[in-house]
Amino acid sequence: GQCSAHCPVGAIYESDDTKHVWNEIKEDKKHVVVQIAPAVRVALGEAFGMEPGALVTGKIYTALRRLGFDAVFDTNWAADLTILEEGSEFVKRFTQNGPLPLITSCCPSWTDYMEKFAPDFTENFSTAKSPQEMLGVMSKTYYSEKAGIDAKDITMVSVMPCTSKKYEITRSDEMFASGYQDIDYSITTRELARMIKQAGIDFVNLPDSEVDSILGQYTGAGTIFGVTGGVMEAALRSAYYLITKEDLEKVEFEAVRGMEGVKAAEIDIKGTKVRIAVAHQMGNCQAVIDQVREARDKGEEPPYHFIEVMACRGGCIGGGGQPHGATDEIRAQRTKGIYTDDEKSVLRCSHHNPEITRVYEEFLGEPLGHKAHELLHTTYKKRPIYQR
Ligand code: SF4
Repeated sequence: GQCSAHCPVGAIYESDDTKHVWNEIKEDKKHVVVQIAPAVRVALGEAFGMEPGALVTGKIYTALRRLGFDAVFDTNWAADLTILEEGSEFVKRFTQNGPLPLITSCCPSWTDYMEKFAPDFTENFSTAKSPQEMLGVMSKTYYSEKAGIDAKDITMVSVMPCTSKKYEITRSDEMFASGYQDIDYSITTRELARMIKQAGIDFVNLPDSEVDSILGQYTGAGTIFGVTGGVMEAALRSAYYLITKEDLEKVEFEAVRGMEGVKAAEIDIKGTKVRIAVAHQMGNCQAVIDQVREARDKGEEPPYHFIEVMACRGGCIGGGGQPHGATDEIRAQRTKGIYTDDEKSVLRCSHHNPEITRVYEEFLGEPLGHKAHELLHTTYKKRPIYQR
């Protein structure tokens, strides 16, 4: 791995969970299900000589089935679910006296940093779990129930662009909301590439296939979670609907796109002004937090109502678990792949996803309701700097 290759004394090495995943797949009694994150689909091809940004979603689904996974799901489905919860949370806080700003929390590197270095902001963090965790808990509750498979026999594996996601799966008691560990193993894009190579699969020539129901179908809003500004844009598409009960005519928010370290804008929702900021890379995130703290200390209005934060440059497309050697050019190509996925989607707003509507009708009830709260939300606390 990158760290082991770059660490002069070999003290840092990258954890590899592929053996555990192979063992689970070989275990007859286990029903092994998998999810892939937004950013994986525009980077995995690079490990097989394809162009950065090549959108290989259908090939990945096929490869996962050939590896032996019993059901193939998509983190993008859960990104749509996250937007329903987080968008509702924002609207509630915005219309009912805060606390504001609401700060996104789907990046575990950022939440860990905040709990250690900015614990005075814990109440500002969205309590909505990350899409990875939401899909995990839904696989061991809703899917388990619908498919008639005992949750104890389900192994959930996530494929993430991110090494921090390995930490997130045990970060608090709420990551065990199903009664089991909601995600059993989190592997990186690089580890999936390794498994595909170990199995001797000719990835480049694989046919496309479709994702499995009932945790698979996604909208364009779900896929843009993979780039900086994407969570904000997805949230705004649905917040607009939640506030006005009307859909946007134009769903793109150019102000939150691009590689500028901090993107700030005022969004007009039919006369209501919403101040937002989007930050990526830790120094930029810290700068925004300092700005909010300064205003708070002076007793002023917060400069922003809603802030999106991603630890990696460019967002998850530039994550630490992606194929090595990302440059800004490669980041731009991967970003283009993500926006293409959004543009070619028939449905582009999370609240239009029929599988999400269905999960609320059949299982969860209302966004922010009792069951949603129990399964899909988490808490934050001050943590000592040198311990987990
Ligand atoms: Fe992981 Fe980076 Fe994405 Fe954060 S921004 S979730 S650290 S890949």
